[in-house]
Amino acid sequence: MRVIEIIRGTTHDGPGVRTTLFLKGCPLRCVWCQNPEGMNVEPEVWWESHKCIRCLACLDACPSDALSESAAGLRQDRQTCRRCGACVEACPSRAMAFNSQDWPIDALLKEALKDQDYYKAFGGGVTISGGEPLGQYRSVAELLRRLQETGVHTALDTCGLAPQAALAAVLPHTDHVLFDIKLLESGLHQAHTGRPNDAILANLDRIVDHIRNVNRAMKLWIRTPLIPGVTATPENILAISRFIHEDLPDVVERWELCAFNSACNSKYEKMGLSWPCADTPLMRQTEVDAIMKTALSTGMVDDKVLVSGLIAEGLPETLSTYPCSE
Ligand code: SF4
Ligand code: SF4
Repeated sequence: MRVIEIIRGTTHDGPGVRTTLFLKGCPLRCVWCQNPEGMNVEPEVWWESHKCIRCLACLDACPSDALSESAAGLRQDRQTCRRCGACVEACPSRAMAFNSQDWPIDALLKEALKDQDYYKAFGGGVTISGGEPLGQYRSVAELLRRLQETGVHTALDTCGLAPQAALAAVLPHTDHVLFDIKLLESGLHQAHTGRPNDAILANLDRIVDHIRNVNRAMKLWIRTPLIPGVTATPENILAISRFIHEDLPDVVERWELCAFNSACNSKYEKMGLSWPCADTPLMRQTEVDAIMKTALSTGMVDDKVLVSGLIAEGLPETLSTYPCSE
């Protein structure tokens, strides 16, 4: 399985204390993506400026002339790069590195089971996230099955865009689903994520059917990233609230509104990419309060709605313009 990161001791990716595995590859291109290294399923090399001693051994080693040096640092031409890893081998300070690692399922299982005592003590388990985990669904299904066999609680964190066969393979081994609804209006969804949302909502229907007709014990949390001027609009929040409250009241246990932060900009820098959300400030408490009021205006019970993420206090009004939405 191609993994970008394994984080142990997470508390936001499902119930209890968990280990979250972030897999590489995603069919969406959300402009606000906080895991840009998870988009492309292919291995990629990135460069960490603070580790680089400017010896230029990587330039000498590169067989494709994909690297160049400028005053701003090293640049990698991603079109020319063959992902051969010669620069990674040559680099004495580990400034050049692959941003993912391929793991055998057995090794991932062993890694995930290291915290089994914590899962038992704090009601947690393992969450498979991404990227989009369903892109590697055969391996994910196998890993989740083996985790369940050992008594570990399993969760899938998905953007929802995947073949029907992927859901069919994974759902029988999943105890909990975290499902993104980013924008309910399909044209806006296409504009900001690169894909319309019809196939995503059809997959949500399939999960809901699975809960209602196959596994009433499965939990479903909906997650909406709060992107100022994009998803965090009264129209979008009201539409999603109506949808959950009117169509899914019996199956959605929680609706999580995830406040945006731009702390992951360093990942874009390591990949040599500029990011339109880099200077987007944290949302203010007053803005979050207004969104919460809209979210609850449909009659949704307030203990079902949760705001997560960083929120600014007392920022001046001048910070209320958001480059992310331009
Ligand atoms: S991975 Fe290979 S082709 Fe790409 S920059 Fe490094 S040495 Fe060059
Ligand atoms: S080999 Fe490593 S340390 Fe040397 S210039 Fe390249 S990235 Fe920097």
